[in-house]
Amino acid sequence: MRNYWRRSKIFLRTQKTIPKDEVSLNAQLLIRGGFIDKLAAGIYSFLPLGWRVMKKIEKIIREEMNRIDGQEIFLPALHPKYFWEETGRWTTMDDLYKLQDQSGRDFALGPTHEEIITPLAQKFIFTYRDLPVYLYQIQTKFRQEHRAKSGLLRGREFIMKDLYSFHANEEDLDNYYEIVKKAYERIFNRVGLKGKTHLTFASGGSFSKYSYEFQTLTDAGEDVIYICQHCGQAVNQEIKEETPTCPNCGESNFVQKRSIEVGNIFKLKTKFSQAFNFYYTDQNNQKKPVIMGCYGIGLNRLMGTIVEVWHDQNGIVWPEEVSPFQIYLIEINPFNDSPLHQKAEEIYQNLAQNNWEIVFDDRSDCSVGEKLAEADLIGIPWQIIISRRTLEKDSVEIVSRQTKEKTLVKAQIEEIEKFLKR
Ligand code: ATP
Ligand code: MG
Repeated sequence: MRNYWRRSKIFLRTQKTIPKDEVSLNAQLLIRGGFIDKLAAGIYSFLPLGWRVMKKIEKIIREEMNRIDGQEIFLPALHPKYFWEETGRWTTMDDLYKLQDQSGRDFALGPTHEEIITPLAQKFIFTYRDLPVYLYQIQTKFRQEHRAKSGLLRGREFIMKDLYSFHANEEDLDNYYEIVKKAYERIFNRVGLKGKTHLTFASGGSFSKYSYEFQTLTDAGEDVIYICQHCGQAVNQEIKEETPTCPNCGESNFVQKRSIEVGNIFKLKTKFSQAFNFYYTDQNNQKKPVIMGCYGIGLNRLMGTIVEVWHDQNGIVWPEEVSPFQIYLIEINPFNDSPLHQKAEEIYQNLAQNNWEIVFDDRSDCSVGEKLAEADLIGIPWQIIISRRTLEKDSVEIVSRQTKEKTLVKAQIEEIEKFLKR
């Protein structure tokens, strides 16, 4: 990734007005800031700034998946009907996109990949020696969502990280499930949702008693969770209806909050191995069904959630780890002062050389007000402003996008770096 850009060269056009056809705040801000473009309801293009954010999120997720021994693969998105018939979901999954090729063969566009990964794993796993295995991918999913009004929170095409685990027995699945839970906590902390994301008891459906959802508190959320006032455990609506008391501590004093499901982890157990007759032989030469788990995170949804949580009236306030750049350098030079311009250039070049991720707003055809408003809208964590006024004091002004705190720092690369690394 190239990490230094002049604002004038970036494929980017910000918008002052709210796009008329967007009701969700995350999409409004991301479109206005030039991160994404809407093609149709629930379908978005990612522009250079938005794609950088996506890549940062992806990198964090990939690191955490590799750390728990996940092996990255890449499965097809185009699925022959046969695989979906084997599990019965060709007819029962109502958000499945179906299509036909010229010779009349039916396909689905993958909304998830249990139907593909199970028969794949079956070609490689035969005995207990082949287990456990953890496979993940980061790939586009397609779902005919009925309500696609929440911007990146609910897309009809979106990128998901899906991890699948294969085990010899339930105990091994249980152990790994806890490991994934911790990896998920690290991911949500690292992308800037620390303290806002609750591990939430959800119903395990037909497979097991509880599963976990990771729910981030935001008013834009489509879900409702209940947080126990006694022990802090969160439960989803379904669990609350089933058990009016906290499944963790037994108290019954909950607060209701709106939230969005940013990830979930699920014990599939033998649901899919049975559908595909996927067995292995154990140490005693007995045939046993392979035990499975699946673990998803929607990357688009995560990005949309970060924006829902981190914004103010002026725009987005990116957490450092997922921000498209670290520094937004603004030259305020209405009179085209040449020493001032040279100084700004020098700071830009030096910071770029020292591997800071930096945008340099060097435009001369744009007002001061516009530059500052745009910097706030785009939401990069550090704004460095260089103007006649700051240079009179041989300084630049460094503004924190989050706290709005302004500091005059000597206009030398060492001093600027010292401040940023402090
Ligand atoms: P929801 O109840 O919100 O529809 P789901 O139960 O259908 O979610 P899963 O099938 O478990 O979701 O998908 C795993 C993860 O993928 C979710 O936790 C979420 O982060 C993400 N996700 C699901 N649907 C979408 C979507 N339409 N757009 C973006 N991300 C999604
Ligand atoms: Mg869904």
